[in-house]
Amino acid sequence: MRTIVGTLSRVALLLATVLATAMFLATPAKLLAAGGFRTPNFVVSAPTPQLCQEIGAAAEQYRKDLAIEWLGHELPNWRQPCPINAQVAQHLGAGGATSFVFDRGEVFGWEMNIQGSRERVLDSVLPHEITHTVFASHFRRPVPRWADEGACTTVEHTSEVSKQERLLIQFLKSQKGIAFSHMFAMKEYPRDVLPLYSQGHSLTQYLLERRGKKAFLAFLEDGMQDENWPRAVQAHYGQQSLLALQNDWLGWVKQGRPRLPLDADIATVAAAPARPASGGVQLASATSVYAARKSEPSPQASVYDASRETGSVWR
Ligand SMILES: [Zn+2]
Repeated sequence: MRTIVGTLSRVALLLATVLATAMFLATPAKLLAAGGFRTPNFVVSAPTPQLCQEIGAAAEQYRKDLAIEWLGHELPNWRQPCPINAQVAQHLGAGGATSFVFDRGEVFGWEMNIQGSRERVLDSVLPHEITHTVFASHFRRPVPRWADEGACTTVEHTSEVSKQERLLIQFLKSQKGIAFSHMFAMKEYPRDVLPLYSQGHSLTQYLLERRGKKAFLAFLEDGMQDENWPRAVQAHYGQQSLLALQNDWLGWVKQGRPRLPLDADIATVAAAPARPASGGVQLASATSVYAARKSEPSPQASVYDASRETGSVWR
């Protein structure tokens, strides 16, 4: 069974952050006569040779660093390099898409398209898309969209993460929150993808705060076995139901997303009282957001069309 999986990246506003130049000067690589700049795992096409080299070196570095960060070890080199087609210009909205093929436990057929300003490509779009490839290489099967996009967003520049956090509050206040029972079952992108990104990112961040990256991946691995997410949530985070998790997460958001001490183990999680207590930032009747969402279809037209005018690309 071949499953072609595409991912989207959403990044928007330009920013002035410049990456440390040392990051992309280290990897030896060569220009191929045809097809772009080659590194062990990527072939980069970009407007200039210097950009090809910067992007290729950064891609290799992210591939190594993000694999260690999430998996605890580097990935072996892919048999075939991943083509990266990069459009880089200051006026371009930032965004990307990566596709790959799952077939009998293997993943291959990589293709990555990215675009944006040089700074945004290097500090947000590229690490986001590379994280998709790390997850795909690890799981060898489609990862639930909320978790896949949520995790990939956590590695973006802080300005992008902050934007997602602001958007989330707007979505929750305007009844665009997605009930966990619905979000956990999503196999594809919804028509309005923005709430999925911001909520997926926030829940991922919450779960990472609770038990860290290793436990988060173990939870996903387990849940994907039987798609019984209430069982997996209970087993890995000690919550009685998806609704209980949803309410605890909402409480955390209301508190302003405080840093949490990592739970030592699942026994501690199960024994702990529900947390955090409500307070802090007030959402508009947050729990009723979900009640309303369950009983009424969400409007299809996104109120966030305006955000596209600031430079986002949606493909
Ligand atoms: Zn993505």
